[in-house]
Amino acid sequence: MNKDFYDVLGVGRGATTPEIKQAYRKKAAQYHPDVSSDPNAEEEFKKIKKAKDVLTDPPLRKTYDQVGHSQFEQAQKQGGFSNTHFSGNTSDFFTTSNFSTGFGNLFETFFGGPSRSSSRRGKTLTTSLEVDLEDAYFGVTKTIRFTRPESCTKCNGAGHPSDAKTINCSTCNGTGTVTRTSSTVLGQIQQVATCSTCNGERVSYSKNCNSCSGSGISTNKTELPFQVPPGVLDGTIFLYEGEGAALKNGANGDLKIMVSIKPHSDFKREGSTVYYSYELPFQDAVFGTKIKVPTLGGLSELIIPPGTQSGDIFTLSGCGMPQQGRKKSFGNQITKVQIPTPHPSSLTNEQKKVLKFFGKPTEANIKSGIFDKLKEL
Ligand SMILES: [Zn+2]
Ligand SMILES: [Zn+2]
Repeated sequence: MNKDFYDVLGVGRGATTPEIKQAYRKKAAQYHPDVSSDPNAEEEFKKIKKAKDVLTDPPLRKTYDQVGHSQFEQAQKQGGFSNTHFSGNTSDFFTTSNFSTGFGNLFETFFGGPSRSSSRRGKTLTTSLEVDLEDAYFGVTKTIRFTRPESCTKCNGAGHPSDAKTINCSTCNGTGTVTRTSSTVLGQIQQVATCSTCNGERVSYSKNCNSCSGSGISTNKTELPFQVPPGVLDGTIFLYEGEGAALKNGANGDLKIMVSIKPHSDFKREGSTVYYSYELPFQDAVFGTKIKVPTLGGLSELIIPPGTQSGDIFTLSGCGMPQQGRKKSFGNQITKVQIPTPHPSSLTNEQKKVLKFFGKPTEANIKSGIFDKLKEL
């Protein structure tokens, strides 16, 4: 029941960060609540995401390996208590870090060891993706192409060759942090911030990587598969965690993907409702008929009762868009019947004659069977 994070992702304890990310992507594709029909999908997805968050953050992973699963979970649950430590302590870690996950701060408090990289993250990148309404109906896998700062492959993100000599950072005296003290009415407040000279690395190096000039980062063109869930709404923003910009000695930022939907020539969509206009021949409106109406999912049968008026509306239940995030729930298609008036130039002489008769229905016309002829047209 209480599987550890390695088991959750199905990786060995020696798995590398890329291996963990790959295992996560595979599992996430399987359990993402937008695509999975498994009733436990959401719960399962949360578990794998949490396992990935911890195991892809080297300092957090180290702590996790050291203290073990249950103690780690317990400390996380006690996160609420750590709030009380915040008053009067305005450390940069607490104000600028990824406070929303709580992990970074918590381990500052409970385990003492500075987990700097968990509080330093690369930038969030934003990209957009336009899909057809049909793709939004069925769901589709697209390839997202964008450029992003990635870890330099030449120095593995270190910024220096492995044989470079290290020198203690003189700004922070090799502590990686600088402390500022300010006086307030409540007493003295100490602010701890990452040293900006060494970026918290505590040391500087005798030479830099000649590929990235010491930044540890190179900007590359990249592509990612992205699964557009069925029923996606125009303007929905998806967050792809850890796929944003890399940061030297920090965790990757996130990638935001904004999905927009191209207007369709035949269908109009509002939420899960689809609107469609059907041109019905005059005689079918008079006598009634059975028609096949195009919907995004295919043709759907509709019975037109005799005496249908132009502008009448018919609801095709369940023929609209799927509701975003709910695999088996569909909206309706509202079909509006339009009865076009034919132009005389498109009519044969016989049709014209019939229509003229139709204008003045007399006993004689009916007896002559003129309306039966009209029906046959
Ligand atoms: Zn420094
Ligand atoms: Zn480099």
